[in-house]
Amino acid sequence: MVSAMSGVTNFLVDATGSDRFDCADVVKTFSEKHLLVAEKLFEGDHMKEFMKEYNAKLASFERTLRDDRKDPFYMDAVTSSGERFSSLILSHVLKSMGQKSVALTSAAAGIHSAGVPLSGYADLKRTDADINMKVRPLLEQGIIPIITGFYGMNDMGKPLTFGRGGSDYSGAVVASALMADELQIWTDVDGFMSADPRIVPDTLRIEEMNYGEAAELAYFGAKVLHPRTIEPARQRHIPVRVKNTFRPESPGTLIHHLRGPKNSLLMSVAAKTDLSIITISSAEIAYRPAMVARIIEKIAEKNVIIYSISTSLSTVAFLLHNNDVQQTLNQLDTLVETDIEKINVKSDVALVCCVGDDLLDKCGVSGDIFGAVKDVGTNVEMISEGASDSSLNFVVPMEMVVSTIRTLHAKFVRGKDGRL
Ligand code: ASP
Ligand code: MG
Repeated sequence: MVSAMSGVTNFLVDATGSDRFDCADVVKTFSEKHLLVAEKLFEGDHMKEFMKEYNAKLASFERTLRDDRKDPFYMDAVTSSGERFSSLILSHVLKSMGQKSVALTSAAAGIHSAGVPLSGYADLKRTDADINMKVRPLLEQGIIPIITGFYGMNDMGKPLTFGRGGSDYSGAVVASALMADELQIWTDVDGFMSADPRIVPDTLRIEEMNYGEAAELAYFGAKVLHPRTIEPARQRHIPVRVKNTFRPESPGTLIHHLRGPKNSLLMSVAAKTDLSIITISSAEIAYRPAMVARIIEKIAEKNVIIYSISTSLSTVAFLLHNNDVQQTLNQLDTLVETDIEKINVKSDVALVCCVGDDLLDKCGVSGDIFGAVKDVGTNVEMISEGASDSSLNFVVPMEMVVSTIRTLHAKFVRGKDGRL
């Protein structure tokens, strides 16, 4: 399973988003990027064989680019093109090493997706069946399939991507369908760290953690894995190993279902920044669950991600990204309820996410953590605890996020010999 070559997806996203979009230019630059690599890797007959397949793929890329730009899945089709070329290159590299290999598109491999443009998810049932019909026989014949990551085919037979960085998730979907012994994700960092190294200089590599911890961490901050990667692996207890392409000797992080003894209260402290709290006030809203449901429905219509919800007798507060505030307010405007008394927005806050095992069952954890936060002088704007036993999350003003993370890391993350 492969992602696109470095920089290729960004190039396609920028190119299609630009007003001065010129198909011929895009094809030229795109092709040059790939040919430069191919020329370094192949020569003679091998290059000829590669070029035959390459030219056919390039013609189909050009057709995709020239398709109707108003089609809701146009961006998905174009931005997933990099994977169709990196898979071709890699399968030819394997062939040139004497291996049997074939490049497979998600369509040929049987990866099915559903959902809205640019943010699909895998239809695991259909994918399971198809992968076992189309990919397993290849493996049994000793042929190494190199499959395009990042997207699946939707009901209309169109490519639908899984969001940026989605190849990790594709890998998990295929590993789960094949009941693999292990899923390895090769990336550009040593694995999951105990904090963002740009914020905390003495971060530790997390040697092992369980699915719950990894999922919370991937979702709330650490950009190591696509946040949905863990779930398909967790469902079938497939261990996930995150490795660094540039330092293969580093053991990386191993994620599995076991809970080992821990010598540290917290594994990691991450943060999601640039968020806003929208607070809606309405008398005794707590006694009107249907109204809360309608508010959530309105927000969800625009696929806005809600990071946290908190309610009181007469208010309900939502945490969402700064960029989603305006469209959320517009949506709330369309609510027919006349008894919303006030809507308040507090922007530029961050969600601090403390990840550890079994935090709920350990007595006094919140006391310790909030005690430390108080010492930093940070005002806590919102708290989310109890929803997951692997994380305790709370909201602070953006300007306090660095000092809060540093203090919590220094106090509660303890490792041995530079690892956790
Ligand atoms: N190439 C896609 C991206 O850049 C998918 C991936 O890298 O996983 O988002
Ligand atoms: Mg990636």
